[in-house]
Amino acid sequence: MTQTTAGLRWHRKPASRDKPWVVHVNTTATGGGVAELLEVLTVDERDSPYESGWLLLEAPAEFFHFTKNLHHLFHGGGKPSLLQSESAAIYRGVFLAPFSDLLSSLQPGDTVVLHDAQTLGLASALTPFGVRIVWHCHVGSAEDGPAKAALWSFFAPDLAKVDAIAVTRREYLSGAGVDIKIREVSPAIDPRSPKNRPLPKSTQKELLDGLGLHGPCRRPVGYRLWQEEPLPQDASVVLQVSRWDPLKDMIGVLGCAHALPAETHLILCGPDPDEISDDPEGGEQLQLVLDARSGLEPHLKRRVHVLALSLQDSTLNALRVNALQRRADVVVQKSIQEGFGLTATEAMHKGKPVVATRVGGMIDQIQDGQNGILIDPANAEEFSSAVRRLIDDPGIRAGLGQAAARSVSEQYLMPRLVEDYRRHLIARKKTI
Ligand code: UDP
Repeated sequence: MTQTTAGLRWHRKPASRDKPWVVHVNTTATGGGVAELLEVLTVDERDSPYESGWLLLEAPAEFFHFTKNLHHLFHGGGKPSLLQSESAAIYRGVFLAPFSDLLSSLQPGDTVVLHDAQTLGLASALTPFGVRIVWHCHVGSAEDGPAKAALWSFFAPDLAKVDAIAVTRREYLSGAGVDIKIREVSPAIDPRSPKNRPLPKSTQKELLDGLGLHGPCRRPVGYRLWQEEPLPQDASVVLQVSRWDPLKDMIGVLGCAHALPAETHLILCGPDPDEISDDPEGGEQLQLVLDARSGLEPHLKRRVHVLALSLQDSTLNALRVNALQRRADVVVQKSIQEGFGLTATEAMHKGKPVVATRVGGMIDQIQDGQNGILIDPANAEEFSSAVRRLIDDPGIRAGLGQAAARSVSEQYLMPRLVEDYRRHLIARKKTI
């Protein structure tokens, strides 16, 4: 159903008023790294000093066209002129909606965390309720320039209302000119979640069979698959899982198909774009990938499988991604820009060797040659030869994979993120 008005609704309401609330706000319950984090971060352990909640901001399609441009501006691209256009009024207008019925359940001592630029405009509407306002910025790039400058001037009034900022990498906020404390906070994963928990071989096989990858599936549910022939059970597999976004460079991965060793298959997997209202470019990007695949020579085309997964059943989606990551011999993330890259973390946790670009959060996660491989995003040959080397050498794969799993367990598990929030971001008597 097309959304025509703006609104806030509880995706997870705090269970009681016995403790202060920490309420996270974003624009989608599924699809992308922020939803992935909130899925775990909003479930409190019994000893938690607060009750967590999750609010979804719903808005008309034009709002998300505007915020997609914001996303590109954060990465140094996009059109700065749109910040002065009528569509800016659409963004501002969304936050004038009558939210107060819902927001009036907030109390001083509560914390509201606004995730990314889509929800930052809510800061003004929150100030009358006396809550602590945190902005958590998950995206950005090291580049400074007119795009970033235009963004910071657009958001200056909102940032003035914010009490604390969390950001994946401090450099993403360069030029923002804010004088409040900024905390660098890396995302994390939950090894017990359906996305990451160990899967028995039989379950893994069942999940892959259920996607039709190994041959026609009797009851194809919740996915679309484009493949010429079934994936052989013993074929080597290179996998990229990501949203259909130009910055993820699925097309670039596909362009390297010719350089893969013979009988190595490539799986490109992303969410069904029709289900993600806050990412209006997804459908177009998936179509570009399918068109590029259609243009491949038959002997290459039969080794490229494109999967669009439904997110409606989030547990099934998570289990399917889990099974795909475990099936892969090499996981790639060829992003042109990458805020953090949870897909790399998830694969590394599963002991997979990852080939990723030397951008954003990948640089934090991967020490080149030790727990994965980093390549230049503009160098397709470097990417292809790294993948080829790993496919050809099980010893290197195993070594990198083991080191990868170790580094995730040391740095990127949920308890660390929960502790970062408690110590640095959430309201308490003595604040930062
Ligand atoms: N994801 C998923 N199904 C898909 C594609 C992606 O569940 O079909 C998940 C993926 O496993 C990861 C998240 O979406 O947890 C993407 O996070 P990441 O930080 O890699 O990128 P973002 O989308 O936030 O830019």
